[in-house]
Amino acid sequence: MGLIVQKFGGTSVADAERIHRAANRAIAAAEKGNQVVVVVSAMGETTDELIRLAREVCKDCVPPKREMDQLLVTGEQVTIALMAMAIHAQGKEAISFTGGQIGLVTDNAFSKARIQSINKQRIFEQLEGGKIVIIAGFQGITPEGDVTTLGRGGSNATLVAIGAVLEADVCENYTDVDGIYTADPRIVKKARKIDRISYDEMLELSGLGASVLQTRAVEFAKKYNVPIHVRNSQNDNPGTWIVAETPNMEHIVVSGAALKKDLIRVGIKNVPDHPGIAATIFGDIASANIVVDDIIQNVMDDNTANISFTVEHGDLDDIKPVVDRITKALGPGTKAAYVSDLAKVSVVGVGMRTHTGVAQRMFKALADAKVNIQNITTSEIKISCIISREDGPKALQIVHDAFELEKAKT
Ligand code: ADP
Ligand code: ASP
Ligand code: MG
Repeated sequence: MGLIVQKFGGTSVADAERIHRAANRAIAAAEKGNQVVVVVSAMGETTDELIRLAREVCKDCVPPKREMDQLLVTGEQVTIALMAMAIHAQGKEAISFTGGQIGLVTDNAFSKARIQSINKQRIFEQLEGGKIVIIAGFQGITPEGDVTTLGRGGSNATLVAIGAVLEADVCENYTDVDGIYTADPRIVKKARKIDRISYDEMLELSGLGASVLQTRAVEFAKKYNVPIHVRNSQNDNPGTWIVAETPNMEHIVVSGAALKKDLIRVGIKNVPDHPGIAATIFGDIASANIVVDDIIQNVMDDNTANISFTVEHGDLDDIKPVVDRITKALGPGTKAAYVSDLAKVSVVGVGMRTHTGVAQRMFKALADAKVNIQNITTSEIKISCIISREDGPKALQIVHDAFELEKAKT
């Protein structure tokens, strides 16, 4: 007996039959004596379809972010109502809530809002009244009452935030694969399901392209020590536990590999080489809520610097005006260029802290397969290589093979 928060992703609620299946899981957990909260995503590809629709209407413009959020929250709203009905259809009691209805307050960074607080009272009242509580993932409300969304995959953030404030015994993340694999199982057929993975490794994997969990959600889970169990909504196989690191995890040098499929490199040339310039540039970019990666600065002989960094292709519309403003302010010699069609392949593992030779093995495997490495970045638990986009899937396969990730290590 305890408090369980279950989250069902898009594919797990894609049609009426799947909604019933998800409802049955929630009911089964409740019948075991648990209090159950269910967080849901929009059905199937609804969010993508709404984005397509917005682009169709707003052909030569960028849709205003506030209106985009107003549109996108509708997807999850459909699912909560249907899920509550599916539970009623089984003769059980359920109640659905939007983000606003449970006071899930965020800042006003439309499309990438951050959760500030949740009013758990309303949820507890309903749980204590014996109801299964259904909550719309991915959405919140600003203190002024505007609806916001939490970034793509944001239902994961809702799951973990609800789990943290309710002090849930477990957060179950139901998706369309059996758990976290050593690489995306849709690209690497031999990928192996991992039983347990540390928050830090999962954070790196998510940030490096393992879209199964949103990075922010893992950050939150680590901060509040919320255990997440990633499982398949279509079977009862045990999934993957994401937990705090234990000493025996260090025996495994590389736990997984990941691929970011569509990146752009922004290069700014002839930047005056003064203290504070990088801080100003990246300060402006951060204020626009854009995540940058793989920053490289080279200082030239003439007291100028070239700075380059990568962003996701989807951030191009947001980054261009910021970079234009920066280059203009820095003077006529400073120019920006954009290289698209890049990808990033990475290996991750806490064991890298205590083992050497990982980088060399990765570079050699890529070289043997004639994959050209454009940039390299490392942290103590990951190595990443920027490569061309068309080499992406092949490169993921190659590094997976090079570290024999399909074989379980003990
Ligand atoms: P949901 O809609 O349930 O939130 P997502 O589509 O967001 O599901 O995430 C699940 C998908 O993540 C899987 O279908 C898989 O292709 C992809 N994925 C990428 N990397 C991994 C990985 N390392 N392990 C498992 N799945 C991964
Ligand atoms: N529906 C949103 C998306 O597709 C949120 C989510 O599914 O987590 O990104
Ligand atoms: Mg998702």
